[in-house]
Amino acid sequence: MTRRLSVVGLGPGRADWCLPAAADRLATATDLVGYGPYLDLIAVPTVGRRHPSGNRVEADRAAFALDLAAGGADVAVVSSGDPGIFAMAAAVFEQVELDPPRWSGIDIEVIPGVTAAQAAAARIGAPLGHDFCTISLSDVLKPWEVVERRIEAAAGADFVLAFYNPISRHRPWQLGRALEIVRCHRDGATPVVVARQVGRPDEEVHVVELGRLVPDDVDMRTVLVIGSSTTRTVAVNGREVVYTPRRYAGSLDSALVVPAVVGRPAI
Ligand code: SAH
Repeated sequence: MTRRLSVVGLGPGRADWCLPAAADRLATATDLVGYGPYLDLIAVPTVGRRHPSGNRVEADRAAFALDLAAGGADVAVVSSGDPGIFAMAAAVFEQVELDPPRWSGIDIEVIPGVTAAQAAAARIGAPLGHDFCTISLSDVLKPWEVVERRIEAAAGADFVLAFYNPISRHRPWQLGRALEIVRCHRDGATPVVVARQVGRPDEEVHVVELGRLVPDDVDMRTVLVIGSSTTRTVAVNGREVVYTPRRYAGSLDSALVVPAVVGRPAI
């Protein structure tokens, strides 16, 4: 019996941004499990039975997939982007830890994918060129105090910040509060990449200054990349790109130091 469960990253949506290893597993799996719209995102050929589920039932979905695998199926559990980043891989291992004998003998593997922040960054330049931090603003699975503490620490340490799950109908005020915290540490002119539906047909990626970012312009299909104190915009071949230099003043390579951000170019 096969007893295999692969947690597969689809990437953000485009077929050519899905790894060949992921496409191989999707092609041969006997059963495909995932949030319905993510199953619809699969852009490569599949033959397995599809088991769509709602968005808020990760634990049940993971247990269901493990049960299928325990019964001899060759299962692919899908996540958009990377399955290890705010997605199904951890949910699967959490279930296994709860009841190890029930799932013994299942071969579990995780197949990575291009995560939303990487895809957004590639579209606009290289805003993740130096140290960065990903934070989910969702307080469904963690207390809001924890989210605030992490934003405060990461903003204070001058990381570039990638905000996932920035806002939803059930979480309308959290992004506004998060931006208040960031604005205590960053200049209002700091570039913010607002990247919606990256790699999908209705993709929109633009840059706004931190001081002008309005939560109403953001939705749950958006990832935000907020620059650090050195992130800047530059015109390249007639288009504005955003990047974060790799060199700091005082680094070993100081002869090549990029000048400090004085008079950041207008966006
Ligand atoms: N595992 C996914 C993240 C899931 S959390 C990944 O690695 O990308 C869901 C959040 O991811 C969304 O609220 C949004 O902030 C972000 N996201 C996922 N796909 C996206 C896309 N194509 N464009 C922009 N943001 C995306």
